[in-house]
Amino acid sequence: MTARVALIGHPLRRRHSEMMHNAAFAHFGIDAVYELRDIEPNEVGGFVLETRGEDWLGFQITAPYKQVVMGHLDEIESGASRIGAVNSVVRDRGGRLVGFNTDAPGFRRAIEIELDVEVPGLSAVVAGAGGAARAVVDALVDGGAELVSVGNRTPGRAESLAADFGPAVIAVDLGPAFSTALAGADLAVNATTVGMHAPGAAFDVGALPQDAAVYDLVYEPAETPLLAAARARGLRTANGLGMLVAQAEIAFERWTGVRNAGTVMRAAIEA
Ligand code: NAP
Repeated sequence: MTARVALIGHPLRRRHSEMMHNAAFAHFGIDAVYELRDIEPNEVGGFVLETRGEDWLGFQITAPYKQVVMGHLDEIESGASRIGAVNSVVRDRGGRLVGFNTDAPGFRRAIEIELDVEVPGLSAVVAGAGGAARAVVDALVDGGAELVSVGNRTPGRAESLAADFGPAVIAVDLGPAFSTALAGADLAVNATTVGMHAPGAAFDVGALPQDAAVYDLVYEPAETPLLAAARARGLRTANGLGMLVAQAEIAFERWTGVRNAGTVMRAAIEA
């Protein structure tokens, strides 16, 4: 019996997940297939019911269903509860559907490996207050960061994010307060769509200290204006590809027990 996994979302524009997981299944000789399911909102419940079948390992979720899917599962792990979004589900041995979030641990793995950043005691600045920013902030706070300053175009969203994550997280305006936060940061993160959907750089890297690192969650284009400016200043930089691969690697391990699939996955999407 071929085991199954799928990604649900609407619209589904990217094929990275399908490529990464199918390459890893093939490489490790696992008889399983990862498929894309572009479904309507009224089809989510029926889809989740289908995944209770014995052939399913689990599934993944992208916009706009990361919140709504939570109501259909048997258990939500604590990290996903804090973030308020499930992007992966595993069907456990008892057939229960357990929701978790791989964006937060994927982000942490990426910054540690690619930027040599140690999270405990870190001072970080995050641009954005959407779903991805919530995962980034959770990874930083859960990892023991000392201070996380969040700035967002719509200030109220940064304020409610800060309120959800406790005293280590503060909301700052995108004016002089954001530059002050950058001046004291070890790590600055772009968790907005600027550089991908919107033109320009998410923030000015000029205020960052020389030993700071810059992580951009955007991976298409590979070098955003933000990363180009940071690189021109000689700062350590990485784009979101490492996080994309790491979050996939974490889900793959939960479904199959196979660790370190990231190298194969990365090669598949770079090809
Ligand atoms: P989202 O929930 O829609 O949030 C979008 C964020 O971008 C909000 O903070 C929004 O601000 C901000 N924004 C949008 N247009 C802007 C503009 N013109 N100027 C300033 N801010 C703007 O999206 P998301 O899921 O958090 O994703 C954010 C980014 O992270 C996307 O580029 C996504 O591809 C990337 N991502 C990467 C990975 C990875 O593995 N590398 C994983 C997840 C997400 P407002 O609140 O003011 O609208």
